[in-house]
Amino acid sequence: MDSTTHRRRALKADPAAQLALLDLQELDSRADVLRHQRAHLPELAQIAELTATRSELDGRRRDAQIAVDDLTAEQVKVDADVEQVKARRKRDQDRMDQGLIANPKDLERMQGELQSLQRRITSLEDDELEVMARLEDAQKDLDALTVQVGDADERLAELSEARDTRTRELDEELRTVAADREPAAAGIPEDLLALYERLRASKGGVAVGALRARECGGCRLSLDPAELSAIRSAPPDEVIRHEECQRILVRTPESGL
Ligand SMILES: [Zn+2]
Repeated sequence: MDSTTHRRRALKADPAAQLALLDLQELDSRADVLRHQRAHLPELAQIAELTATRSELDGRRRDAQIAVDDLTAEQVKVDADVEQVKARRKRDQDRMDQGLIANPKDLERMQGELQSLQRRITSLEDDELEVMARLEDAQKDLDALTVQVGDADERLAELSEARDTRTRELDEELRTVAADREPAAAGIPEDLLALYERLRASKGGVAVGALRARECGGCRLSLDPAELSAIRSAPPDEVIRHEECQRILVRTPESGL
């Protein structure tokens, strides 16, 4: 009873159309592989990783630039402070040298101030040296990070070019497959093509397999003798489905029936 129901529902298609389905499957599988390759190019992962690294480096480079700018401003300020105190010391010294301060008490106070100004200059010059040393370190960091960001940009440009080249090649191959597909599909009746597409969608892209050496080309399982016997007695234009995987089985001269 089951087989009657099955028989009645079974699609009919010219054996040549069934064989054409194998060609179509081969082309579609090839296109699937090409699309998968295009979506998973090693360059894509490398670009993503390097872009993250570059962004981290660039953040550090911006911080280093801020440090250099701050220290440069600090250096300008401490330089100006030194000059200002030195100018004041010179003014006081000149007044003393010119004998403008005659009062011994004023003279003593002036000498005290000169000593204090000298101490202040020494302290500011120490600051100046310290700021210069820090600025030098910060500039080194900035230079190194600038080089690293530049290297990353260079490598990213190379990777992008390699990605684009490989993508163009794969697109070209896909266009060739698509061009071959049209004539391959032309001889296949509508209902068989619809079944094929439905099975492609639900069976991991493989809708049809050749029956070869008693094995299903779709799922690679061997068929049992009862199923083989039923297939043997089925008319050539009946579209056979593998009971196990439900894919379309196409009989070929190598089927082993
Ligand atoms: Zn199967």
